[in-house]
Amino acid sequence: MKKGLLIIYSGPSGVGKGTVREHFMHDEQLNLMYSISMTTRKPRKDEVLDQDYFFVSEDEFKNAIDHNELLEYASFVGNYYGTPKAYVEAKRNEGYNVILEIEVEGARQIMKNSDDHLSIFLLPPSMQELENRIRNRKTEPEEIIQKRLNKAMSELDVQKEYDYIICNTTPEQAAEEIRAIIKNNL
Ligand code: 5GP
Repeated sequence: MKKGLLIIYSGPSGVGKGTVREHFMHDEQLNLMYSISMTTRKPRKDEVLDQDYFFVSEDEFKNAIDHNELLEYASFVGNYYGTPKAYVEAKRNEGYNVILEIEVEGARQIMKNSDDHLSIFLLPPSMQELENRIRNRKTEPEEIIQKRLNKAMSELDVQKEYDYIICNTTPEQAAEEIRAIIKNNL
């Protein structure tokens, strides 16, 4: 059986990665599995444990690093985020294409270490639109919103390192473009 693709899917905080993903994730032809990340961030009100993230303590996260259990990891606005390796490898070996929704530093680690990945960067229609989305979410205090917006500016510089750049004008249109990209790369 052909090993599944590793799909790196990035974009600044608030761009709508999750919403767009929901529009293409369930297309059976794409044969996708979503990799649930580990994070030391506290859960938001609407987040489901072990579904949106594995929420862990800093000690648990460091333990995962020490035991080489993460495919990549990075620090983002004061918290750690990382991809558990075992799940990704198991699913790829079963032939699934595994999607990693990760920030740019972790993405760079994977781009450097693997040669059979596909990378997609999702852009906001404008910075104003991104700011509106982060604010409308009402999940973070002002200080964190500012940090996330600053981080977004620096993340946009990294978009050129990705294979494909898609603008999230509407979730339906962005998802359609991503669906086509994945199909063309299978
Ligand atoms: P949030 O706190 O908004 O859920 O995530 C913050 C950023 O971390 C987002 O860009 C998200 O895609 C990224 N992220 C989530 N999981 C991982 C991961 O496992 N590794 C890395 N490097 N980034 C992640």
